[in-house]
Amino acid sequence: MEENKRQRELCDILNQWAYEYYVLDAPTVSDREYDRLYDELKELERETGVVFADSPTRRVGGEPVKAFARHTHIARLYSLDKAVSDDELDAFFARVEKAGDPTYTVEYKFDGLTVCLTYENGVFVRATTRGNGVEGEDVTAQVLAVPSFPLKISYRGTLEVRGEAVIRLSVLRRYNEAHPGDQLKNARNAAAGAIRNLDPAVTRTRSPEIYFYDVNYMSDGELSQTEAMEFLRREGFKTYPYFKICKTHEEVRAAIDEIEIERRNIDVLTDGAVVKTDESGLRAALGYTDKFPRWAIAYKFEAEEAESVVKRVFWQVGRTGKLTPLAEIEPVDLGGATVRRATLNNYGDLTRKDVKVHSHVLVRRSNEVIPEILGAIGHVEGSVPVQKPVLCPACGSAVAEVGANLFCTNPDCPPRVVQKLTHFCSKNAADVEGMSEATLTLLYEKRGVRRFSDLYALTVSDFEGLEGFKEKKIANLLSAVENSKRVPLDRFLYALGIDGIGRVAARDLAAFGSVEAVAALTVEELVGIDDVGEVTARSVAAYFADPENKEELRRLYDAGVTPFVKAQTGGAFAGESVVLTGSLTAMSRPEAQKEIEARGGVCQSAVSNKTTLVIAGEKAGSKLDKAKKLGIPVIGEEEFLKRLAGE
Ligand SMILES: [Zn+2]
Repeated sequence: MEENKRQRELCDILNQWAYEYYVLDAPTVSDREYDRLYDELKELERETGVVFADSPTRRVGGEPVKAFARHTHIARLYSLDKAVSDDELDAFFARVEKAGDPTYTVEYKFDGLTVCLTYENGVFVRATTRGNGVEGEDVTAQVLAVPSFPLKISYRGTLEVRGEAVIRLSVLRRYNEAHPGDQLKNARNAAAGAIRNLDPAVTRTRSPEIYFYDVNYMSDGELSQTEAMEFLRREGFKTYPYFKICKTHEEVRAAIDEIEIERRNIDVLTDGAVVKTDESGLRAALGYTDKFPRWAIAYKFEAEEAESVVKRVFWQVGRTGKLTPLAEIEPVDLGGATVRRATLNNYGDLTRKDVKVHSHVLVRRSNEVIPEILGAIGHVEGSVPVQKPVLCPACGSAVAEVGANLFCTNPDCPPRVVQKLTHFCSKNAADVEGMSEATLTLLYEKRGVRRFSDLYALTVSDFEGLEGFKEKKIANLLSAVENSKRVPLDRFLYALGIDGIGRVAARDLAAFGSVEAVAALTVEELVGIDDVGEVTARSVAAYFADPENKEELRRLYDAGVTPFVKAQTGGAFAGESVVLTGSLTAMSRPEAQKEIEARGGVCQSAVSNKTTLVIAGEKAGSKLDKAKKLGIPVIGEEEFLKRLAGE
């Protein structure tokens, strides 16, 4: 007992010292003093066999692991939409301010590896990478070797906090000086490599730190961004000191400018600033797109750039027929990756940038996008202008110029058809597993597959004799084709590849309940949908008016393709087409949508004459007005909660 008391005392002292050293960057004792008490604690733990949940000896990180276990996050970890220009920032302001009157916060955007830490009953239980946002890798053993977070906190509920694991630039330099055989190329990859390393001992030697910036999930309620930062600091998490609260656009811009200048002087790699709306209620009202929260944006600064030389330019045909110029360049190292190809976006871009073959060019690589040629720095003797193609390089058909773009005018252009088929089979579309672009190219060339419906007529004999197709693989592909027949309506609409219809717009369209219902919408009705603009509305209407498309849809149905809507009958909202507007206090909008859909209702993003019910929370805006004008029943939050409860 006496020993446990001393153990407790040692844990508390050592944790306080570690907090001062690693979190506050303000050490109060010498390393020797720390080590002396640490050794005493270790000795006591050996004797008593007791190790407290918050013992600093747990920070060693443990044994190497064989593989990372997968872990599903409690709440999805969204990535952020990006803005790279003032216009895009203005568009963000406009979107947000439609829903309310926000206060903004501005923070640094660090460039490392995002990690998520889980706490239960006040004890740290797990660390994971962000992964795809829904599921990440369990890196608990590795993160335990990072001392910038508490093992115990005072908050007792279930908690997930988010931070960015980084390696300071000075630490990286020292590491590279000390390890000539193990040079770390850049701070971002070094941080990712330190955390995603099977051996926690390696994590330790690279000394990553974590800056926390978000409470991603809290079992009892939601915090504003200001409250979240205060909470994190109070509980002993390391946070970056810069945090600005802004009331006006000018203040936001000034904060971004300040970060852009200061970031060259700080010891952590940054690539931008994050602007968020502060209020949790407004966030709930704004909700999420398919990929991003609508209430935050990452303002990205210029990405990494390098010089190279253009070796040749070739043209790629996409599924819309657009010709994209791609440059093959002298290999160049950019942000830790070797870049051999860069896009010139379109013909207009290529002319404007005055890029020729053999030109010296500036290449930019930003996160997760194809490297791009920014412009020509100079032309050496023998630079050759890129010929504007008069004929499609793939099929020899005439090329049409529309604005800055060139299009192959042949709807049957081979790469174009293959790209369309590839899009149709892709995961977020019809999801024909294993049907790759290479396979579709073969089927196109050797078996005359042209239309989506041709895929459903494939038999074993179509694959026999094709190189690389054995019995098992053929059977798998055919059953994947069969499985894709029952396809959610939104994914089917996306799969059709209608110009302008991405996944979000496809989901909006699917709310109308069937392909026929969507086909019957007028341009005017289409424009009334949140994520559909004038041009897209026209392309949707034109698509369904085209007799060939009608014919193809019929062939697909005849083959057994049945797009379905996930709806239940008999629930409290069965048969209802519901629009949510304003903010609810009891739950976020996505949560409310889930509850409605689980009870048989279909949620729409805009009020139309198909809408049967509008739920109006606080600060309901134009949607409420429209509902009243159309005479659609409107209920408030209280009534909504009653119906959820089955009353
Ligand atoms: Zn062509």
